[in-house]
Amino acid sequence: MRLGGCNLSCRWCDTPYTWDWTGIGDSGQAYRASEELHPMPWREVWRQLRDYDVPLIVVSGGEPLSQQRRLLPLLRAAAEDGRRVEIETNGTVAPLPEIVATGVRFNVSPKLAHSGDPEERRLVPASLAALAAVPGTAFKFVCRCDDDLDEVADVVARYGTTPVWIMPEGQTPDVVQRHLSALGDAVVERGWNLTTRMHVAVWGDKRGV
Ligand code: SF4
Repeated sequence: MRLGGCNLSCRWCDTPYTWDWTGIGDSGQAYRASEELHPMPWREVWRQLRDYDVPLIVVSGGEPLSQQRRLLPLLRAAAEDGRRVEIETNGTVAPLPEIVATGVRFNVSPKLAHSGDPEERRLVPASLAALAAVPGTAFKFVCRCDDDLDEVADVVARYGTTPVWIMPEGQTPDVVQRHLSALGDAVVERGWNLTTRMHVAVWGDKRGV
């Protein structure tokens, strides 16, 4: 489930259609909120989600925790229905205790300098600490080169953001593969986890997959 709106504006964002209404991102394309956003009551969202016969629901964005109060009844309904839920977040918003109590897992992706976001906006110590304290939280960093890994190490040392996963930046299979190859050995040497972007490898930058 992809939610609209984000409190950051990463220049290489792969989902600018959730928040970029002015063309500030690398693509330069300004999307229309009236076309991209589809407000609906949570009960209707849950009715649609419930029809998918899947054990795991991933809530992504945009930044889902920006609207966590409105998300809460949906998360409770999913938990009561026996579904696991993971929330993808940029780590700048601390989760409410009620959200944590539903048993969700957080996949946190703090942004590095190459996102173009100022540090005081992309790294919020109290929010990172709150997320790190939730059992099962994982931290995933989008990287391109060795220098990015040094920056990740600095973030980990300052904020205790473990376990660490490194994901190559890229919106085409060629670019993802290039960054993956450039990063692989160094990630293994540091004892971190390495992942790729399977949906890009299979479907490129196609939406809705
Ligand atoms: S935090 Fe995520 S959704 Fe928001 S601009 Fe950055 S990459 Fe895009």
